[in-house]
This record gives sequence, C-alpha cells and structure tokens, in this order.
Amino acid sequence: MEWNVNQHSLIKNIPLILSSYHVKLEAMQKDCIYLDNNATTKVDPEVIEAMLPYLRDYYGNPSSMHTFGGQVGKAVRQAREQVAALLGADESEIVFNSCGTEGDNAAIRAALLAQPEKRHIITTQVEHPAVLNVCKQLETQGYSVTYLSVNRQGQLDLDELEASLTGNTALVTIMYANNETGTIFPIEQIGLRAKERGALFHVDAVQAVGKIPLNMKTSTIDMLTMSGHKIHAPKGIGALYVRRGVRFRPLLIGGGQERGRRAGTENVPGIVALGKAAELELFHIEEATTREKRLRHRLEQTLIATIAECEVNGDPTQRLPNTTNIGFKYIEGEAILLHLNKHNICASSGSACSSGSLEPSHVLRAMGLPYTILHGSIRFSLCRYTTEAEIDAVLSVMPSVVERLRALSPFKSDQANWLQQQEQALLIKS
Ligand code: PLP
Repeated sequence: MEWNVNQHSLIKNIPLILSSYHVKLEAMQKDCIYLDNNATTKVDPEVIEAMLPYLRDYYGNPSSMHTFGGQVGKAVRQAREQVAALLGADESEIVFNSCGTEGDNAAIRAALLAQPEKRHIITTQVEHPAVLNVCKQLETQGYSVTYLSVNRQGQLDLDELEASLTGNTALVTIMYANNETGTIFPIEQIGLRAKERGALFHVDAVQAVGKIPLNMKTSTIDMLTMSGHKIHAPKGIGALYVRRGVRFRPLLIGGGQERGRRAGTENVPGIVALGKAAELELFHIEEATTREKRLRHRLEQTLIATIAECEVNGDPTQRLPNTTNIGFKYIEGEAILLHLNKHNICASSGSACSSGSLEPSHVLRAMGLPYTILHGSIRFSLCRYTTEAEIDAVLSVMPSVVERLRALSPFKSDQANWLQQQEQALLIKS
C-alpha cells in the first residue's frame, strides 16, 4: 500500500501530537476541581511511593520459598496489619481481592454456600448494583429476596427489617453508607436483629471505610467489603473482612492463597498500596472528617441560600461527612454536569456505574422524590484534598449555571401539567 504525503506527515508527527495531548491532559488535571470522590479517588503520592518498589524491583511471588519471594511476603503481611488496624480487625480476618464488586459477590455467595438449607436474603432497594444484581440473579436460581424500602431521607425502617427476618434467612446484606446520598444506616441495630434470627450479616462498606471509625471487634458484622480506589489507593485492589469462625466458601478456587479464601497470585503492588492507604486513612480520619463536614456545610448552605428551589437529598444528620446530593428543580442533572465540566468541575449525577444512562437514579426513586428533583439532582463528594478555594469556585458558578438552564427549561411554563405526565409515566413503567 502506498502512503500519501499527508499520511507520512501525520505518522511523523504522532510523537509531537501525543506529547502535546499529554501536556494538555496534565494541565487539565492540575486545574480540575475534583468533587467526585465517591466515584474514585486520586492515588495518594505516599501510596505510589510505597507500591513502586513492588512493581519495579521486588517482583517475587510471596508464596515462594526463597528469600526474594520472602521479602515480598513480608510486605503483604505488613499491608494486612495496616488494613486490619483500619477496620479494628485481626490480620487473619482480612482477605485481599480485586475490588468492592468482588467482595460483595464473594460474601453473598459464601454466605449462601455455607448454609445451603436457607433460601432467603434480605437487602435494600438502594444498594449498589454489585449487591442488587447478584440478588436479582439469585432470584432466578430459586432464592427469595426481600428488598427493604427507604423513606424520603433514604433511611430504613427497622420494623420492616424485623418483620422480614425468618428462620430461613441466610443473609442480611446492607450497605453501611449510600454512595449517592451518603445516608448512613444503623448498622449495629440491623446486625443485632440479624443475629437474633441466626442470619449472617454482610456490610458493603465501600463508601464508609476511612470516613467512619470502624471496630470489627465490637461489631455485629460478619463480613465487610472495602475497595482501594475509594480510599486513595489504585483501582483493582480491595479486601473482604471475614470474621473468624464464620464459615466461608471461596468464590475463586485454585491455589491456597489468602488461607484458601481467594485463590490467585496476589496483586502485591496493589496490596502494599492498600496497606499504605489504610494507614493514611486511619491517620487522617478525625481531621479529614471535621474539615470535609465544614466544607460540605458551607457548600450546601450557600447553594440553598443563593439558588431558589433546591434541596439536599438524604439524611440530614446520619450522613457521610464528604457527600452532598442536591436536587435543583425543573432542570436536568446531566445538563448541570456538562456546564460544570466546562468550568473544569467534576461532579456526578449518581453512581459512576450507571452514568450515561438516562434512567433516574434507583436510589432517589426508592426515596420517593418528586420527578422534578429526581432528574435535577447532582452529587458532590469531597475528600481530604478538597480546598476552600475549590468550594468557592463551585459556589461562584452554580447560580448562573442553574439560572441559564432554568431559563431554557421547557417545564417552567407548564410545570404542573408536565409533572403530572412524568409521574404518570413513572407509575406505568414501575
Ligand atoms: N459498593 C458501593 C457502595 C460502591 O460505591 C461501589 C463503587 O462505587 C462498589 C460497591 C463497587 O466497588 P468497585 O468499584 O471497587 O468494584
């Protein structure tokens, strides 16, 4: 095939084009106001430093008998101690895996395999798809699942839980805190009720770890899921806490790694990173919680004071310190996000897994929010790196963004009619 002059010049210039693209990307990242930390977090520079030697130099297999592998095994043991310390658990109760989704899948399957005579599961309507979709699949395999409802603030009714528990309930699997609204569930009260009926209790704590102090020694939790990329470690590493004495059946079967609870050669750099990230979370938790709460309060209160017809979704007090989900009536959350994106502000309109779908959030729907708020809700999630100046930047652009979108909104002129139509459509759909 003959190449023309244009193609030749394009090929010649590829390194130049790529490097200018990287320069642009870097500049964008530097300027970016990242308020989407419930989707994922920046890897802490100390975490990168800690993991690099295990990518570059110490590549041995931690199961090997030789000293080279032994050094790596030592690093894995240290990381296990660091993660256990963050959870208030024993090292032997930590099972490293690949992510929160794997932890949720493994815990649910393990609980059912360990009690084959029981066929009932209790969860909530507002879980992450990593739990909800497993439960839906289990329903096709003969299990019955109770999906507990939530109220307008996203809170559970403990009486409904109690009425749902039976001797046939194998597992109660409920998230610690909701990824979209930050609402925190009364985990220990739920656990006590599950224990009274002899059910195992799994908690998806992917959003809670590092934001809420945890102590598995005094907890009713049997299994707890966490994920590295939500706590400033890289993607592709997570851990499942399994209480000593809980019968566990592994999801992955193969070698004897992780005491036979998760086969496969360990992701050593990821494990070292998770250990370091856990140590840093524990170190920063108190100060970060206070700071994030203060910044979030200012963000929420100023938005409410300066923009008409907007409100905070979720429990006003039982809420993660870093999360705010705010509904702006009569406009589309996606449109707000596009405008914010032009100002280099990253937020989200729900869980990262379902973004791109035009379906309103299943969490906000379960809370029974009116259609006007359901569609116009966005989430800001902070972290320990969030600055006062970043909050100022959001506050300076939000009023004009909302005003512009409302001016264009077709719903303003005939709101009542529109609302009725939409709610009717929703009823037909569900
Ligand atoms: N559970 C919750 C509550 C989450 O927020 C997420 C991710 O957003 C997950 C589970 C899945 O975790 P991962 O992305 O590590 O698979």
